[in-house]
Amino acid sequence: MTGTIIDGKAFAEGLRQRIAGRVAELGRVHGVQPGLAVVLVGEDPASQVYVRNKAKQTVEAGMRSFEHRLPATTSEAELLALVARLNADEAVDGILVQLPLPPHVNAQKVLEAIDPAKDVDGFHPVNVGRVATGGGGLVPCTPLGSLMLIKSVRRDLAGLDAVVVGRSNIVGKPMAQLLLAESCTVTVAHSRTRDLPGVCRRADVLVAAVGRPQMIKGDWVKPGAIVIDVGINRVPAPELGEGKNRLVGDVAYAEASAVAGAITPVPGGVGPMTIACLLHNTLESCCRRRGLPFAA
Ligand code: NDP
Repeated sequence: MTGTIIDGKAFAEGLRQRIAGRVAELGRVHGVQPGLAVVLVGEDPASQVYVRNKAKQTVEAGMRSFEHRLPATTSEAELLALVARLNADEAVDGILVQLPLPPHVNAQKVLEAIDPAKDVDGFHPVNVGRVATGGGGLVPCTPLGSLMLIKSVRRDLAGLDAVVVGRSNIVGKPMAQLLLAESCTVTVAHSRTRDLPGVCRRADVLVAAVGRPQMIKGDWVKPGAIVIDVGINRVPAPELGEGKNRLVGDVAYAEASAVAGAITPVPGGVGPMTIACLLHNTLESCCRRRGLPFAA
């Protein structure tokens, strides 16, 4: 038996289309165009690709994109001054500072300088706290997208055992909060967890956010479980040619998909949801800041 393959690419495309429809309506009815500012410091090649894709999809959704590319030598004070300007700019509804920042900049200080109402990454402690207390904060994009994919195969998660492997601030912890809010019984596993295979085997919903290629084996998966693979790992692929790489997740996909009830592939699962959810959050912050109803 092979589980349902959760097509994150198609889901993200549908979400982006719904967002574009709402953006067009906002313009028609209220004369408002949401704007997203992305700040990139330095030349990190992966970050440059992300920022380019974010800007492209922002414009495709009908929003304004403001790109700020700064040299790696930018000081913390200069970056904080830019964030202050973006906070004050009425045309900017969302601010995203691309991580990682150069080592001489205190990333936490910069993230905390962003107006929580424009914090579309959901990393500001005010939003972290609101999400944890059920108070309607902006939710980090990757966990938000992961939850949407889980709910695309099962609407009611109440009472299910959920296991999140990974406890980072950007994926694992907010994912656990979202599943708790869905009334799952949540276990957060990490590098010090004892008997990780046994813990994973209890999961009706298993989220892998570890960063270790194919670590979660097929026999760690409960038959019928929903498996969400957040991991993006580049591994050598000599079969594709000398020096070639391919992307794999944190889950041994071939084995796990034979056991799972539903599973996300890598690539084409959670990955495409992250930018779609960034647009979702920008639209949400645009509507909330103006007291307009929000639905996407
Ligand atoms: P981090 O490195 O910040 O966190 C990894 C977590 O995995 C840590 O909590 C760590 O535990 C845990 N871990 C590491 N090794 C083991 C192990 N052997 N057994 C159990 N737990 C372990 O990573 P991120 O959360 O930022 O990202 C996780 C993965 O998701 C990466 O592959 C990343 O590329 C991907 N990612 C994908 C995104 C997308 O858009 N799809 C977006 C963001 C990330 P401990 O805390 O004890 O060290």
